[in-house]
Amino acid sequence: MFWRRRRPPATEAFAPRWRDLLEERMALWAQLDPGERRDLEATALWLLATKRWEASHGFTLTQDMRVTIAAQASLVVLGLGRDPYRIVSAIVVHPSTVTLRGERAGPVPGTVTQGPLPILGQASDERGPMLIAWDAVLRDGAHPERGMNVVHHEFAHKIDMLDGYADGVPPLGDRVTRRRWDEVCGATFASLRAGRDHPVLRSYGAVNLAEHFAVATEAFFNRPVDLVDHEPDLYGVLADVYLQDPAARARRWEASRPPAGP
Ligand SMILES: [Zn+2]
Repeated sequence: MFWRRRRPPATEAFAPRWRDLLEERMALWAQLDPGERRDLEATALWLLATKRWEASHGFTLTQDMRVTIAAQASLVVLGLGRDPYRIVSAIVVHPSTVTLRGERAGPVPGTVTQGPLPILGQASDERGPMLIAWDAVLRDGAHPERGMNVVHHEFAHKIDMLDGYADGVPPLGDRVTRRRWDEVCGATFASLRAGRDHPVLRSYGAVNLAEHFAVATEAFFNRPVDLVDHEPDLYGVLADVYLQDPAARARRWEASRPPAGP
C-alpha cells in the first residue's frame, strides 16, 4: 500500500523583521535564549493564525501590533506550551484606555457597580473577547522594571479561567498542591488588603484573588528578581505553575552584559 506521510500544514514563518520589532518593543526579548525564542515565535504564530484579532472602531490594527501582543502573551506560557490559550477566542485592540460605562458586576461577587471605569485591558469571561489598550502594550513592553504588563495580566486571567472560574487559582500542575497555593496566595492577598506595603505588587491585587493572581503574574515576569527578594514564597508557587524561572533568566542576562563604561 502506498503511504505518504502527511505534511504539516504550511504556516507562515516568523519574519526576521519581527525579531527586530521585538528587540525594540519587548525589553524581555533580550533575555531569552535561542530555544526560548523559537518556542515563543511558534506560539505567537499560532495565536496570530488561530485567534480573531480585531481593532476597536476607527482604529487600525497592523500586523506589527498583533505580533507584539502575541509575543508578550507567548512569553507567559513558555513553560506550558500553547494549550492554556485554547479558550482565547478574540483579542480586541483599542488605541488607549477604554472607559466602561453603565451597570456591571462589582468587585465583590453578587454586587453591581455604576459609573465610568477606565481600564487598560479586560478578559471578562471564559470565552469572551479580550480587550487590550495598545499604548499600554508599548509602554509596558519597553519598561518591565515598572512591574506592569497589560498583556501578561489579561492572559493570566484566561489561564485562571481554564477551569471555568476566575478565582485566582490557575491549573496547578504537579509541583504545587492546592493547599500550598492557597496558603501562599491567601497570605499575600490578606496582607495587600490590610494595606501593608508590598513594593513589587500593585495594590490593585487587593481587589480580589483573580486580580491578585494577574498582578502577581505581572511582577513574576517583569520584576522577577525583586519578587524573589520580597515575596520568595509567592515567586516559588508561580514558578511551579508557569514552569519558568524568569529571575534566573534575568540574572544570567545581567551577568552576560559587558560592564557599564565610565
Ligand atoms: Zn484584571
